[in-house]
Amino acid sequence: MSSEHHFDVVIMGGGIGGNMQARHLLRTIPGIKVAVIDPRSDERIASVHKIGESTVEIAAIFMSQELGLVDYLLENHPPKCGLAFHWAKEAGQTDTLADDYFSIWPPRFPKVMTWQIHRGTFERDLTAMNRADGVHWFMGKVKAFEVGAGDLPNTVRVKGTHGGEDAELSCDHLVDAAGRAWLTGKKFDNIRQDAESLYGLNTGAAWVRVKGVDPELFQEGGADGERVATSQFYATNHWMGEGHWLWQIPICTETHTVSVGGMFHHDIIPGAQVGRKEKLLDFIKANHHALWKMIDSADEVVDFIYWKKPTHLCKKMFSSDNWYAIGDAAYFGDAFYSLGISTVAIAVTSTTELIRAKMADEPDVETKREWYDKFNVYFGETALHLYRDHDKHTGHASAMSWRIYLEYMWWFGMWVPMFIGRWHLDVEMCQAIVGNCEKPYLKSFYDDLTRMIEQGGNAGLMDPYRADQLIGGYHPTTEHVHFLEDAEFAPGRLDLYASLSKTYMLNIVFLLKFQWRAFGLLGVLSPRTLRRVAHLLRLGIWIKMGSWRHKFRQRKLPANAKFAKQAMEFQGYAGTAELQDWSGKEPPEGAKKADADAAA
Ligand SMILES: Cc1cc2nc3c(=O)[nH]c(=O)nc-3n(C[C@H](O)[C@H](O)[C@H](O)COP(=O)(O)OP(=O)(O)OC[C@H]3O[C@@H](n4cnc5c(N)ncnc54)[C@H](O)[C@@H]3O)c2cc1C
Repeated sequence: MSSEHHFDVVIMGGGIGGNMQARHLLRTIPGIKVAVIDPRSDERIASVHKIGESTVEIAAIFMSQELGLVDYLLENHPPKCGLAFHWAKEAGQTDTLADDYFSIWPPRFPKVMTWQIHRGTFERDLTAMNRADGVHWFMGKVKAFEVGAGDLPNTVRVKGTHGGEDAELSCDHLVDAAGRAWLTGKKFDNIRQDAESLYGLNTGAAWVRVKGVDPELFQEGGADGERVATSQFYATNHWMGEGHWLWQIPICTETHTVSVGGMFHHDIIPGAQVGRKEKLLDFIKANHHALWKMIDSADEVVDFIYWKKPTHLCKKMFSSDNWYAIGDAAYFGDAFYSLGISTVAIAVTSTTELIRAKMADEPDVETKREWYDKFNVYFGETALHLYRDHDKHTGHASAMSWRIYLEYMWWFGMWVPMFIGRWHLDVEMCQAIVGNCEKPYLKSFYDDLTRMIEQGGNAGLMDPYRADQLIGGYHPTTEHVHFLEDAEFAPGRLDLYASLSKTYMLNIVFLLKFQWRAFGLLGVLSPRTLRRVAHLLRLGIWIKMGSWRHKFRQRKLPANAKFAKQAMEFQGYAGTAELQDWSGKEPPEGAKKADADAAA
């Protein structure tokens, strides 16, 4: 094989995951030789056919900071104004959002700028940037690949498409970013789809993209200025109901193109009832008439797609044979919290660090690989577990609002700070997180919600965006903000322990408040509740001790080294009032004398 066809890294699949991986490698490891293989034509890449359009904090921070795409995103994709949730007050009465729904609205712009992305535009532009930066692009399909044991080279056979040439490639590192083609999944029997691995999640997804809608119809009567100081249309709007939820995401401002679709629990809404375009639209018309009116105003339905079983999970993501599975090639749960691209961000940064460490021949690379793999698979399981028992809860506004509040507490108190501080690249932290799995605690809370629903209870509508819901002005969505404001970006710098410990303690308040509202004094004093309080308290205190240790270890370090350097330089600052000559001429003698007099 010619050296022209040997690469440090070959990426199978040039979707969002593959392109992000390529760009991240180029920006992190100078001179690295990367190839990407994807069978689509340029026209197909730019078309609307991909799904995954709403970004949340981890994805947005990654795209802005590590991929350097913030200006590009500002100039080319709609801003996103958080996640909003709506439940009909009465089944069958869904004509207007303002009158017929209970809603949770983000009242202000989010603290971290996020975007709604048009996937065709995004992948087209990212592909062009990567090609311009030196990525070798093969327009073709991976027909076969072989993985060499240990550090032996891997080989890939490419069948050219749309005029692309056939090729035989070899590489040191092989990344599977080919999504649901499951290239490594099939070859290594690496995919899990059994009910137990998926925590019983059994959903289908169906969606349309509609062009030329009238946004006014979404907010008949106008935007609600008494509730929000931001756009309601540019939120990712969740229309909630029994056994389903629907998204509404604006993906292009010029053409007013909107993505509308949903996740449907097969036990309640079988695929046959929503798996065709007309059936999906009829479902929306009957159950969320206000949304249907907006769809009906469109000039064109651009596409319709139905996936019977989008959920899956792999067993391994990073192999000691130097192959890596990222994005949909590794796992996907449910789109409810728009997590997909954030999971890609975690996998991409982990993969790059492993490849960098391996190329630099660092001694701890295999330990890193073992724990990054365990952590990333664990994160995949966590991302799936978030939707456990959703089939029992989505239609109940009270239960679901408490559930969202709880999950926001962990997202903003743990996962977002983890990513800001790049703690997922710290082996010790990976070990601690994997070793302290909180799924049993979360499941116990989901069981409480189910019991409350079965008893016909109502614990009120809990709003994660408001500061008057839990205690002392706390609101989950700003938990990560002080880390950003103090620019604690250096890996392992920010005090994740403090944030986590606080989250555990607040969970105690949350749990007791819920028990009181849902089950009264008996709920608060039940042994089950007390056991959970003891568990949360013990861990909250234990992790707080970790925070003291962290503070001690970091006591001589500034929050941000660059700002500290600037502060040092600034100490000698005495102003720079003197202007430079811009006329190209010497100042007249008189002016020179006046300056000298003033100085004296
Ligand atoms: C219903 C639904 C809604 C979602 N909504 C969101 C959301 O709002 N926000 C979010 O962040 N995430 C969302 N996601 C998740 C998101 O779609 C994924 O995280 C993301 O698309 C994964 O990207 P990827 O690059 O891994 O896969 P893809 O984008 O599918 O890319 C895979 C690429 O591999 C190529 N390929 C396939 N076979 C081969 C082969 N043999 N050889 C070479 N190349 C090949 C394909 O052409 C394709 O370009 C959603 C997912 C679903 C199912």
